[in-house]
Amino acid sequence: MSGTVKITPMLRQYLEIKAQYPDAILFYRMGDFYEMFFDDALTASRVLGLTLTSRSGKDEANRVPMCGVPHHAVSGYLGKMIRAGFRVAVCEQVEDPGASKGIVRREVVRVVTPGVTLDEQTLDEKSNTFVCALWRGPARKKKPVVTGLAFLDASTGDFLVCEEESGTDDHEQVIDALTRMQPAELLVAEQQRQDLDPLLASLTTLIPGLCLTVRGDHHFEAETARTTLTEHFRTANLAGFGCEQLTTGIRAAGALLAYIQETQKTDLTHIRRLTPLDNDRFLIIDDSSRRNLELTETIVGGRREGSLLAVLDRTRTPMGARYLRKQILFPLRDRDRIQARLAAVELLLADTGLRAELRETLAAIYDIERLCSRLALGQGNGRDLNSLGLSLARLPRIRELLLDCPPSLLKDIGAGLDTQDELRDLIGRAIRDDAPVGLREGNMIREGYNSELDELLLILRDGRQMILDLEARERERTGNPKLKVGYNKVFGYYFEVSRAQAATVPDDYIRKQTLVNGERFISPELKELEEKITTASEKRLELEYRLFTGIRDRVAARAGELLATALDIARIDFLCGLAEAADQYHYTRPRLADDRSLTIREGRHPVIEQALPPGRFVPNDVRLDQEENGVLIITGPNMAGKSTVLRQTALIVLMTHIGSFVPADEAEICLVDRIFTRVGAMDDLRRGQSTFMVEMNETANILNNATSDSLVVLDEIGRGTSTYDGLAIAWAVAEELADRDGCGVKTLFATHYHELTELAATHPRIRNYSIAVREYRGSIIFLHKLIQGATNRSYGIQVAGLAGVPAPVIKRAREILAHIEKGEFNRPDAPGASTGPRQLSLFQPPTHPLEQLFTDIDPNQLTPMEGLQLVFEAVDLLKRLP
Ligand code: ADP
Repeated sequence: MSGTVKITPMLRQYLEIKAQYPDAILFYRMGDFYEMFFDDALTASRVLGLTLTSRSGKDEANRVPMCGVPHHAVSGYLGKMIRAGFRVAVCEQVEDPGASKGIVRREVVRVVTPGVTLDEQTLDEKSNTFVCALWRGPARKKKPVVTGLAFLDASTGDFLVCEEESGTDDHEQVIDALTRMQPAELLVAEQQRQDLDPLLASLTTLIPGLCLTVRGDHHFEAETARTTLTEHFRTANLAGFGCEQLTTGIRAAGALLAYIQETQKTDLTHIRRLTPLDNDRFLIIDDSSRRNLELTETIVGGRREGSLLAVLDRTRTPMGARYLRKQILFPLRDRDRIQARLAAVELLLADTGLRAELRETLAAIYDIERLCSRLALGQGNGRDLNSLGLSLARLPRIRELLLDCPPSLLKDIGAGLDTQDELRDLIGRAIRDDAPVGLREGNMIREGYNSELDELLLILRDGRQMILDLEARERERTGNPKLKVGYNKVFGYYFEVSRAQAATVPDDYIRKQTLVNGERFISPELKELEEKITTASEKRLELEYRLFTGIRDRVAARAGELLATALDIARIDFLCGLAEAADQYHYTRPRLADDRSLTIREGRHPVIEQALPPGRFVPNDVRLDQEENGVLIITGPNMAGKSTVLRQTALIVLMTHIGSFVPADEAEICLVDRIFTRVGAMDDLRRGQSTFMVEMNETANILNNATSDSLVVLDEIGRGTSTYDGLAIAWAVAEELADRDGCGVKTLFATHYHELTELAATHPRIRNYSIAVREYRGSIIFLHKLIQGATNRSYGIQVAGLAGVPAPVIKRAREILAHIEKGEFNRPDAPGASTGPRQLSLFQPPTHPLEQLFTDIDPNQLTPMEGLQLVFEAVDLLKRLP
């Protein structure tokens, strides 16, 4: 385009910059205008309705097409360009024209694209303008494809990531996620561009104006993408955002962030976190909480026994059991659906006759889902079809039972239950009850199903008789009553006569074999008959196989409907199971609170109560709200039952969201969006990270994602580091949770830092609780009762005693403790400390502890955190002084 044009220094600069942004329209700042040249000018003048002029050259050939827009009106023009699907590189003068000697230095300061625009005029304030990046990864779990999606709204800093699993050619989930977010721009990797064609085709129709941007593959590389993110957030990993395991999503997210960085050319500090995007429909329980709460398996040993799932599972079908598991992992957040389930469970709990009959009927139903997939994959045999038939035969009775229910979820499921009469009838008519495993050995198809087969069966059955009839006739014809028909594999049917008789056989007999005592013959008639019989057998096997696969295909063609039926069965089974569990364990129906509070009266831990002898579990009351009981600081000695109260509260809330009754005398539970837990450190070793890092990652995840609708359960945070660091962190975390969004996050906070109980004095939403213990003859008895108010004793020595630490050591520990509590703890530098009378003389006469503490402190050298620690230490000391 510039071949014949005389290149001025300014044009050279323009062309150099333009070369870096070949796919954008370059808005080139010249004084009060943004100018466009060459092809860009032609395009822009057309899109923006500008008059095309030309930069005058000496002759016609040197004329450069150009157009321009005034700088104060640029955002309107940018909006227009973007809506027309173009991207614009905005190039500014980056030095004062007056100060520069030669040509003014210019740089592209941002690239405005359909998805990345910060111009008010182009943004719709009621919704986000997202750019999305998509990366397809290989199989992880069962589905063959994992699609990582990241969404970023550069105008708000909202940055979300998710992963969708799907089949190779089904894009449902991905389309679903994308259409929900309605991105303006979609980034894909060059190498995946072509494979994505079918998906992109549907997307462009579903998302009007979606702009596709193809990016270099390296942006999507796992390591590159991860580094882009961690460098931006200045974090060691992404666990603090709860995204660490979303490896495919991270590739999309990193590529997306790199793109925004490239186009915006600012530090993007407003993008402060990467949030895993989860369906709003479900109560979200992240991976570590799922493990901590032992929802589907125990922490130690990974066993199902001892999990919530095992306690609740009273289902009778595999479909029901899987459904229950899914519900535990994805509890509902929909009030109406939860209420409907609770009402159904109540109904089934009360009507024991109905429940018993339903459960008995369900027990006879096979795994329809699995049968269905086997049949659909062309792998099922006659027995599979029989199992399916038997299962379908139960449906009418189930439907009948459900339709007799009062209006309820049960009645609704009954009304919608497709009893698959046609398939049931087909299988019943076609498949023999005793069908074998193999498909090539016949005996699969019933008589009466197909007339051709019936005919063959007749020949096969009567064939033997026909042979016997022929034998009788030949005996008569030959006058030899000893003639008999035999069969062998080499030449089929034959007549056998003794050697003496062999000479007198009829002419049409053909000799086949001579034996010691006899001779074997065949005849045309015999061979004809044989032909009929043997081909009938082959034909029958062939035909049965053909008929069977035909039926199997007909069943497979209805796989969708069958799976819907299977789902209904799963739902009924699930509800019956919950009612059975509620009955067995004396659970009650929770009410759904209208506000953001939860009240549990006499709540129990569903798993631990089963492990104890009946009546031994001590129930507890818990009240959490967003007024006075926002954060409950729970203190008490080890083994008192702090964790148990924490976990049971989380479990009761979760069970409510499943639609289950709960282990409590009364419960009023509000809907929550997420349950977060930070409990113990059981699995740290497995992950090969330091305990403290794991603990802080989990804490960061909570702080980054908890909302005023969440429930947070924190057990002993800050334990993995030095006392004062730990205390300072725990303190700050408690404050943050109590203050979040002005109303706090409902939090149970078990701690051994008694200092934290001070928080309650100054913070209106923080309350102190403790777990009661009774001292008895120098030992303690755990009462497991949650009571109001803090405890200031940790009973560590008593617990050590209970744990079997030898009596002399315990005795000595008591003595030392007594000294410490009197403030005589500064220099236990007694040489013979373990011998001789243990007197105060073991310790140096103390200087005042505070004096000790502040010696050598230079306030000017202290960081704020060190200062805070020092205050904690001082307060701690003062509290311990007599
Ligand atoms: P902490 O977290 O205070 O160290 P845990 O909650 O782990 O204590 O409880 C320790 C043990 O005490 C549990 O394994 C259980 O056997 C018993 N326990 C806890 N709470 C109760 C309770 N409410 N009723 C009966 N036993 C309990």
